[in-house]
Amino acid sequence: MKTRPGVCRRKARYASVAEALTIAQQAEITLRPYRCNLCKQWHLTSRTKGMKLPAFEVARRRAEKAN
Ligand SMILES: [Zn+2]
Repeated sequence: MKTRPGVCRRKARYASVAEALTIAQQAEITLRPYRCNLCKQWHLTSRTKGMKLPAFEVARRRAEKAN
């Protein structure tokens, strides 16, 4: 995903995907980590359309369906 410089500056950065995923799991909305091409670190995006969902989100949705 291409990141515009303004978006990169404004967003929180995570040094690793594991760190980004930890934050994503705590969020109320679906967030997906992606590698930024500008800072080479990780940001979170709520735009998950057409993207592969993170494993925890797949598990969460599966659990909701089971109820
Ligand atoms: Zn960035």
